[in-house]
Amino acid sequence: MTTTVFKTLEQGTQHLVTGNTIHELLEQQQESSIQLKLTSLLQTTLKLEPLMELFFGQVQHLLKIHSCHYSHQKKLIDIQLGKVNTHTADYSLNLENHYLGNIIFSRKQRFTEAELLQIESLLGILVYPLRNALNYRDAIQQALHDPLTGLGNRGALEHTINHQWQMSQRYEQHFSVLMIDIDYFKRVNDTYGHAVGDKVLKEVAKTITTTTRQTDLSYRYGGEEFLVILNKSQPLGAGIIAERIRENISTLDIAVDDTGLNTIKVTASVGGSTSHETDSSQTLMQQADEALYYAKKTGRDRVEFFKK
Ligand code: GH3
Ligand code: MG
Ligand code: MG
Repeated sequence: MTTTVFKTLEQGTQHLVTGNTIHELLEQQQESSIQLKLTSLLQTTLKLEPLMELFFGQVQHLLKIHSCHYSHQKKLIDIQLGKVNTHTADYSLNLENHYLGNIIFSRKQRFTEAELLQIESLLGILVYPLRNALNYRDAIQQALHDPLTGLGNRGALEHTINHQWQMSQRYEQHFSVLMIDIDYFKRVNDTYGHAVGDKVLKEVAKTITTTTRQTDLSYRYGGEEFLVILNKSQPLGAGIIAERIRENISTLDIAVDDTGLNTIKVTASVGGSTSHETDSSQTLMQQADEALYYAKKTGRDRVEFFKK
């Protein structure tokens, strides 16, 4: 990329010989130095949002642009910077036959051909760090997600719950955790095979996420155990959601073959605890686990909350 920038500087010098005005020369030199700066700036982060913010900031030094919208539909990425205006320039970004997303710039005035060329040369600088940031994001996603259910895994949970705990202490906003364990799940595997067992896990995971709010967080805690963090929830509200999850799992009809005619039912037990009087996120999870144990012991397919 550095070679390209030098080439631009050289072109600037040639233009001087062919009679460019000082103003044009200065503009070209400014553009070159911004390109150089952009190249090194974009190497300073692997995170997508900061990367796009840096890019947008630098582009604004060069061109009057009001907004920049970066999206990658398949990866569910949507980053909007600035306020959208009338005229747009839309690019599909590809590098070595790999699709890297779409970027749309907008502003009040129409884009000139010369400006579009400038944008394209800046995008030529962006694509390499963008590819690295997307790869980094994929690696993080893989490290923190359970591939079967798509939920966060235990590593992700531990990171989040500690953060959640700190926030709840600072803002005095309580939250609850629900520990959900499928009842007699071993029997499902033994009777219908591991593939059907996997299907049950996926459907239960889906039921948990669709029953909770978008701000709640669901994790696969272990084999057939799930954990939900209910944000800003009071014990009563958490109890209602826990009961709804239990009920929605028990009403699922899960197909055991391709005909879809033969279905099975499963149930789950739920243990909950709220952060009101606990002293750490670890204690909170232990309490939910204790409540779950009690729900199992007293018959399964039921919800129990930890009581001091
Ligand atoms: P309980 O009602 O007491 O919870 O009984 P259970 O049978 O659900 O519990 P148990 O701990 O005895 O069995 C859990 C089973 O979950 C055993 C294990 O083979 C199965 N399991 C764990 N992970 C997976 C997985 O990824 N896929 C499948 N199909 N089964 C799994
Ligand atoms: Mg279990
Ligand atoms: Mg179980």
